[in-house]
Amino acid sequence: MADYLLNNTDHLIVAGARRLSVKNHKNIEHLIENPRFKLIDLDVADQLNVYDTIHKEQPDYFINFAANSFVGSSWTMPVNHMETNAMAVLYQLEAINKCQPKCRYYNAGSSEQFGNVNYAPQDIGHPFKPRSPYGAAKCSAHHLVKVWRESFGLYAVQGILFNHEGVRRGEEFVTRKITKAVARITNEILDLKDFKPLELGNLDAKRDWSDAEDFIEGIWLMLNQESPKDYVLSSNEMHSIREFVEEAFNFAGFATDQCEWKGCGIYEKYMHGDNTLVQINPKFYRPAEVELLLGDSTPAREELGWKPKTNFLELVRKMVRNDIKQ
Ligand code: GDP
Repeated sequence: MADYLLNNTDHLIVAGARRLSVKNHKNIEHLIENPRFKLIDLDVADQLNVYDTIHKEQPDYFINFAANSFVGSSWTMPVNHMETNAMAVLYQLEAINKCQPKCRYYNAGSSEQFGNVNYAPQDIGHPFKPRSPYGAAKCSAHHLVKVWRESFGLYAVQGILFNHEGVRRGEEFVTRKITKAVARITNEILDLKDFKPLELGNLDAKRDWSDAEDFIEGIWLMLNQESPKDYVLSSNEMHSIREFVEEAFNFAGFATDQCEWKGCGIYEKYMHGDNTLVQINPKFYRPAEVELLLGDSTPAREELGWKPKTNFLELVRKMVRNDIKQ
C-alpha cells in the first residue's frame, strides 16, 4: 500500500507498527529512508494510543492492515484475535469520529467472513457464516464499520478481500509455504542432497487467489468514491491447494506429467519418480475448515472500474521465481 501511495499520490505516509525489541521490517526496509514515509510506534489494541495518534496526526485517510491475519493461529489465540481484529476497529472508528471525522477509513475485511458458504460465487450479499475465531472477529469489525458509517456519516468502508498473495506473503500461509518449499527442494535435488518433503494439511480446500498488488489499487479506489460502500475484491476463479502444488512444482521443472499423487487421506503423497515431494501432516488440518471460497467482484469491476491484472498461473510463477532467486 505504501509503495502504491508513494508512486501514485502526493500523500505523506505515517506508518504505524507495533514496537518490537528486535525489528522485523524486511518488507518495508526500502521505504525507511524515504522522506514521505514516517514510521511510528502504534499498537491498535491500545485505545489511548490509537486516540492520541489520530488526534496528533489528523490523517486524511486511515487504512487498517494491522489485524492478526493467520486463521490457523486464531484457535490458539482467540482473545487476541478479537482484541486486534475487532476491538481495535472500534477504537479507530471512535477516535476518528471524535477528533478527525473527515478522515476516510478502510478496514481490511476477509472472505473468511463467508465461512461455511451457502452458494458460489459469494457476493457482498452472502450471509456471514464464519468458521474460525478469526472470521468471527472480522464479521464483528464489519458490523462496527457499517454502524459507525450509518450512525455518524463517516466515510468508512470494509473491503471483503478474497485470498491475496505475493512475494511478501507470510511463510505460514499455504501459498508461500509451497513456493518456499519448491525452491528449497529444487536446490537440494540439484545439489544431490537428501531433502525433506513439504508437509501440508487439507489439499482439497479451494481458494480464490489473487495478487495482493492488484488489490491495493482496488482499496484506493474504494476510498475515493463520492459515497462510501463496501465491495468484494476477488479473481472470480477458484483453485485447490493440490492445483497450486502441481503448478508450483511444474514451473520449477517437476513436470506435472512426470509426477503422481499416490495413496489417499493422510497417506497421500506427491511423487516424482522415487522422490516424495509432498506428504500429509495432520497437524496442518484445521478444527473447522472453510472448504471453498469463490468471489464475485462484479460490482467492483463495474462501479470502480477495477480489475485484477495477474492471473492464477502468473501468480504461482511469480512467487516460485522469487523464492528460487532468494
Ligand atoms: P486462509 O484461507 O486465510 O486460511 O489462508 P491459508 O493460506 O492459511 O490456508 C488456505 C487453505 O489451505 C486452508 O483451507 C488450509 O486448511 C489449507 N492448507 C492445507 N495445508 C496447509 C498448510 O500446511 N498450511 C496452511 N496455512 N494452510 C494449509
